[in-house]
Amino acid sequence: MKRATSTLGTAAIILTLSATLLCSAQEQEKDASDAPETPSARSVKSARVDRSDDVPIVGRKRVAIKQSALDESEEGVRLEREIIGREIADYRTPSGGGKYAIEDEYGFLRTIPAAAIKSIDDAPDATLGELREACKKRLLAEFGEGFSVKTTDRYLFVYNSSDGYAEWCARLFDNLADGFQRYADKNGFDLKERLEPMTVVVFAAKSEFVRYASNETPGADQIAAYYNLETNRVVLYDLSETEGTGAAATRRRRTFQETKEYLSRPNAAFNVATIVHEATHQVAYNRGLFQRTGPFALWTAEGLSLLFETPNGKASQGGWGYRSVFPVNERQLAIFREVASRTSQKDALRDLIRQDKFMVDLRASYATSWALFHYLYKKRPKELAEYMREIANKPPFTVYSPEDRIADFEKYFGNDWEKLTENLLKFVKRL
Ligand SMILES: [Zn+2]
Repeated sequence: MKRATSTLGTAAIILTLSATLLCSAQEQEKDASDAPETPSARSVKSARVDRSDDVPIVGRKRVAIKQSALDESEEGVRLEREIIGREIADYRTPSGGGKYAIEDEYGFLRTIPAAAIKSIDDAPDATLGELREACKKRLLAEFGEGFSVKTTDRYLFVYNSSDGYAEWCARLFDNLADGFQRYADKNGFDLKERLEPMTVVVFAAKSEFVRYASNETPGADQIAAYYNLETNRVVLYDLSETEGTGAAATRRRRTFQETKEYLSRPNAAFNVATIVHEATHQVAYNRGLFQRTGPFALWTAEGLSLLFETPNGKASQGGWGYRSVFPVNERQLAIFREVASRTSQKDALRDLIRQDKFMVDLRASYATSWALFHYLYKKRPKELAEYMREIANKPPFTVYSPEDRIADFEKYFGNDWEKLTENLLKFVKRL
C-alpha cells in the first residue's frame, strides 16, 4: 500500500537536476584527501549520542481525533484515531479555530485543524527500540512483498534492492551524518540531537522508483533521488543494479564489496553526489539547521547540500568521508562561470536571495547558490552561521517575504550588492 501525500508544501526542495542529462558532464573526481585540515578552535564532539534500543523517548504528545472528523475525513486528509509525535506548533485559537502541527512518530508532518481535535495530552513514554519496531512494521506493511528493513544508529532503510546496496547506502548516510556533525561543531551550531530514526526508501529498479516518486514530484524519471519535506523520507534506487539501457539493460545484484567498487568509478560520482545531496537536506532539516515547517533561505539549503557533494575522503576507498575542508564543487563552478560569462550578475544575487523557490533558470540558481555559499563559507563563515541561525529560529509557519529575506541578508552582509558581486566573481576566478 502506498501512502500518497496530499500536497507537497515545499516542492522546491526536491532536487530537480537531471541525473541522466548531466551525467556526461561528470568530471574526474579529485582526490582531495591531502587537503589541509583547518585548525578549529572548537573541539569536534566525537562522542555519539546513545541510541540503544532501551533509550527512552520522552516529551511526546498524543492527539485524539474526534469521531466526527474521522467519519467525514476527506480524500487526502486522512486522520487516525490517535496521532503521537513531537509538537511543532500549537496555533489553535480560543474560539476553536486554528491548527495544531505535529511530526508523527513515523516522521510525517501533520497539520490538524483544531475542529478535528478531541484532546491533546502527554503521550506515554516509549523506548527507541519500540519506536523502531513500530516504524519497521509500518514500512513493511506499506511497501509489502519483497521489502526488508535495515536499521542503523540513526536510520531505517526500507529496501528491495540487494543487501549489498542497502549496506552501501547505510554506510554512506552514516558517514554523511558524521560529517554533518563536524560541520555543525566547527560552525558553532549547537543543534538538537534527534533520536527518532530517519527513513530512506531504496528501490531495486528505477522503474519502481519512478512509479512511487511520480505521486510526489514531477519529473521523477529525471532524478536519481529526492527528499520529501512532508514525509521526511529520502527516496532513491539502486544505482548499481542496472547496466545498459532499454532492451539491453541487465540487472545484477551485487554484494557490498562489488557495490562499493562499482560506485567508486568516476562516472558514478554524479549520481552518488545526488544521493549525498538529498541526504544532506534530510539531516540538516532533522537536526534543525533548517526548519521543515518554518521559513528557510532556499539558497542556503541548496548551497549546503552542494557543498557536501564534494567529500574529501578517498574515492578509492569508497570514500564519501568528511573532514572540515570542502573541496570546490567543480560541476557547479563550471556552470556558474558559464552563467556569469553570458548574463549580467548585477541583480542575480539579490534575486536569488529574494526567492523561496527556484523558478526560472534552475541550473543558474543552483550554481549561484553554491558559489555564494562556498564564498561566504570560506570568507565570512561567522556571519553566514549567524544569518542561518537567525532564520532557523523564526517561528514555524511564518511568512517570509522577499523584503524580509533581503533585510536579513543585508543585516549580516551589508547592502552593497555591487561590491559583494564583484568580490564573489573575483573569488570564483581564482578557484
Ligand atoms: Zn537540493
